[in-house]
Amino acid sequence: MTQKFNFHELKTSNRLPSPSGTALEIMKLLQHDNVEIEQVAQLIKLDPALSGRILQFSNSASIGAHRSISNIKDAIIMMGMAAVKSFALSLSLVGNDSYNRCPNFNYPAYWSKSLATAVAVSMLSTRERVISSEEAFTLGLLMDIGRLALATAWSESYGECIANTQGDELLKLEQERFAINRNMLTLMLLADWGFLSVHVEALKLCFEPSGESLSKANRLAKQLVFANQVANYCVADEEYRVVLMPDLLIEAARHTFDEAELNTFITDVLKQWQEWGNLINIKTDIRQSSPELGAGKNNLSGLNILVVDDDLMMLARLSKQLTAAGHKVAACKDGDAALKYALENKPELIITNWHMKPMDGIELSKTLHSSTWGSSIYIIMLTSTEEESALIEAFNAGIDDYVTTPLSLKVLLARIRAGQRIITLQREVEKERKDLQRYIAELAVANRRLELMANTDVLTGLSNRRYSLNRLEQEWGSAQRNKRPLSVLMLDLDHFKSVNDSLGHDAGDLVLVHSAKIIKKCARATDIPCRLGGEEFLVICPNTDPKAALLLAERIRQTIEKNQVESVSLLNPMTVSIGVACSVSGNTGWKELITLSDEALYTVKRDKRNAVQLAVQ
Ligand code: GH3
Ligand code: MG
Ligand code: MG
Repeated sequence: MTQKFNFHELKTSNRLPSPSGTALEIMKLLQHDNVEIEQVAQLIKLDPALSGRILQFSNSASIGAHRSISNIKDAIIMMGMAAVKSFALSLSLVGNDSYNRCPNFNYPAYWSKSLATAVAVSMLSTRERVISSEEAFTLGLLMDIGRLALATAWSESYGECIANTQGDELLKLEQERFAINRNMLTLMLLADWGFLSVHVEALKLCFEPSGESLSKANRLAKQLVFANQVANYCVADEEYRVVLMPDLLIEAARHTFDEAELNTFITDVLKQWQEWGNLINIKTDIRQSSPELGAGKNNLSGLNILVVDDDLMMLARLSKQLTAAGHKVAACKDGDAALKYALENKPELIITNWHMKPMDGIELSKTLHSSTWGSSIYIIMLTSTEEESALIEAFNAGIDDYVTTPLSLKVLLARIRAGQRIITLQREVEKERKDLQRYIAELAVANRRLELMANTDVLTGLSNRRYSLNRLEQEWGSAQRNKRPLSVLMLDLDHFKSVNDSLGHDAGDLVLVHSAKIIKKCARATDIPCRLGGEEFLVICPNTDPKAALLLAERIRQTIEKNQVESVSLLNPMTVSIGVACSVSGNTGWKELITLSDEALYTVKRDKRNAVQLAVQ
């Protein structure tokens, strides 16, 4: 549902800021030509507070009165009637505390900025006269009065709007909620207060610029735009001022100010702003920080940025501004130095000018892009041309984005933020890649551990049955291919059950561990000792003929017999019986080897135990 805005209704409901009492009378009076100073003086004298302030103002240092002024008439002559009017108007609006109802509306900051605009535009008009500086002052002071009006008329609701919204979004929201936005309301109010139509027209052009023209309204509009920018600078904190300066310099150039003149101008504005502030009780010490910098800092942390430019002034300025925007900045004055720096320090983002010697921005980008370490660095090129072929050349060289010069810091910061999102994503991908690599390595270790566990006998640490049979099959294949002998030793401890029965299972385990150690120690490095289960062991002996196998078996048997476990008092010494089988050139299959060695072992068990027997093949 679209509401319709009714200014008259709003005005009659007394919900708008309005010049009170004397100020209104003065404004009405001054709308007529041929007004006598005496008439205005009479009117002012009726308001003692205003009279006092006017005398104070006309004697103040900033006005520079040479002699002391003690009556209102002299003050009016000295100030000029228009100035008296603007002074009365400002006082009546500024000093009215009854407006201060809108939550989230920063009234002191509002007036502080309005006063700075007023001072700036009145000073501009003394330099480049379009209208009188007193008129300009009033216009500057009230150019944002629509905002105060919205806060006054719909305090609660407007408070909600400004809590989370800014800039153009807020303008849209105002239109949606109240069927009017602050700029339009300003124009309506000023027209209603009897401002000249050229002033209202100038403000309209200031809000919605429409081309270049030398009309009075357009020239005044440009002054208002510039004054507004200067005012933003005045109320900004140090960090934000650094950010605002480049755009201010560009705007100043349109008014034929060079950098030094701009600095002097700003110093004068700041001084007068403070003097006016003291005079009409407006705070001039409130400092605002950059909403963009704030947002940037909240969302994304600073980047490691390398700025490359052979213009040393530009280099210094950019470094300062980007540092103020929360980044860590290094500076190089040509491509060669930049390459060296980049190689050693790996910046995340490079902002480079195009034309430099000995190595220009294109060559720098190409070199970085072609290397593994440099290809992930985000490159923003500063370029004075947007010519198609030049841009294609730059992108082919490996740049990621470009910003045109003369440089708008706002645009550069916006592009950096866009780059930062990509860099953050890259960082995340890189982190994920590293995590994945680490995970794969950990997994490989875990797999090896699992494999080892699956193949190892827990009690003795020897390979288990599963492993030993697989391994035997492999070794048998290899022996057959290489026409090498392969032997196996089947071992079984003698009367082992009696250990368990007489001394307990734990003692039995100790005997098993002890025997396994001896078997392992006696075996050669190439042999594979395994525990098949219970008190049975298998030793796979690659490249071993029957003779060597029998020697090994005998060595094991003797060593077990001679080295009894010390921690257990066995009733009878532990001994072992061993069956040996051998395959020469693959003439006996691997399963057969097990059977044969088992049979040989059985023979030993049956005959005598504690002996070695070669299988009959
Ligand atoms: P023989 O001389 O005929 O080989 O007699 P033996 O007593 O050594 O053979 P038998 O097969 O009769 O007994 C083997 C015993 O080994 C039976 C079983 O309780 C015991 N045993 C099997 N595994 C383990 C183990 O892990 N720890 C212990 N302590 N005993 C085990
Ligand atoms: Mg047995
Ligand atoms: Mg046994």
